[in-house]
Amino acid sequence: MSAKAPITQDVMTIPRKLPEGPINLVGLTRPQMRETLIAHGTPEKQAKMRVGQIWQWIYQWGVRDFAEMTNLAKAYRADLAEKFVIEIPEVVSRQVSEDGTRKYLVRIAGGHEVEVVYIPEEGRGTLCVSSQVGCTLTCSFCHTGTQKLVRNLTSAEIVGQIMMARDDLEEWPVPGAPKDETRLLSNIVLMGMGEPLYNFDNVRDAMKIAMDPEGISLSRRRITLSTSGVVPEIARTAQEIGCLLAISFHATTDETRDVLVPINKRWKIKELLQALADYPRVSNSERITFEYVMLEGVNDTKEDAHRLIALIKEYNIPAKINLIPFNEWPGAPYKRSSGNRIHAFADIIYKAGYASPIRTPRGEDIMAACGQLKSATERARKSRKQIEAEAGL
Ligand code: SAH
Ligand code: SF4
Repeated sequence: MSAKAPITQDVMTIPRKLPEGPINLVGLTRPQMRETLIAHGTPEKQAKMRVGQIWQWIYQWGVRDFAEMTNLAKAYRADLAEKFVIEIPEVVSRQVSEDGTRKYLVRIAGGHEVEVVYIPEEGRGTLCVSSQVGCTLTCSFCHTGTQKLVRNLTSAEIVGQIMMARDDLEEWPVPGAPKDETRLLSNIVLMGMGEPLYNFDNVRDAMKIAMDPEGISLSRRRITLSTSGVVPEIARTAQEIGCLLAISFHATTDETRDVLVPINKRWKIKELLQALADYPRVSNSERITFEYVMLEGVNDTKEDAHRLIALIKEYNIPAKINLIPFNEWPGAPYKRSSGNRIHAFADIIYKAGYASPIRTPRGEDIMAACGQLKSATERARKSRKQIEAEAGL
């Protein structure tokens, strides 16, 4: 690909409403659900109230069967059951790591599969959600990047991953029981498969549903969206989602970043930093997380650490730098930096006044760690040669 070649999105989203068969209510925003109910016979005057009731059953109580929606008239429940379904992705397999991390493989329409990871932590738990099957971008250190993009996930398939995890964790509240605030699933990171900002509308709708106070009710400060740097969509993320932002930075010169994160050929480091500088003000959020994968001999020198600080300072970005030891995958063209290198790098950043946590790899034994996700069943994959060529090896 030449330096100026546009990075295309050749993406296809399955229409929500299939030509035949019932319509899935999951993934519709409140206005969309209202329109859908009205279009199928719910009187306009009642529609807002019905949305409120159905919404709570689906997202607050985790109900999947209209018959259980006891505050609706029996005849209306039967009518709903004829026209609609409440459907989430199907779990194909579940692996549990020795550190408690759970990796799910879920099947979505068309027989495609994506991975979802649950990471339990002290007093909280994070779900790593996927936004695409595969990825159009080809970051040379990322396993998902070796898998061609198959399609964008719908908003139902995105919010459905959260609902699936709550099913597995048995975390739906029971009507009438006291509210338990200690959640097993307390945080969401959009760091699974895919580039969330190349599937903006569906990611936004799904996150809005997850934040709705009468449902899953996660605060926008407990949701982190990670992007490789789709600059034009960063301002929209601040305005329309308002969640926390993480940026896959990974390199301190355009030359190196062009190779590691090829979207950099389209939007250079300086353009990216300008968009990041504007983010906290617009979204009213705190620090931006800079993700930095530590690759031996590629981006891990002391000079890199100093350059990184200088860039962040130049743009005056409130930042935290998350150092990620590279997680290997079969055929990966890089090695993880040594522990000494990583600590020396972290030290320079810390002394410059920024938090520099080193991310502990989780679920490595089940290939659930950052950048290891890839559905083995997807046949469309790149050859080793192609991966090496793209990595400039
Ligand atoms: N597409 C988005 C989100 C998914 S990747 C993005 O790129 O930001 C989540 C994080 O894991 C990113 O920072 C990504 O760069 C990092 N990552 C990818 N492959 C990795 C690997 N093999 N080891 C460690 N981190 C990796
Ligand atoms: Fe796609 Fe993110 Fe992997 Fe890059 S790091 S290939 S953007 S999933």
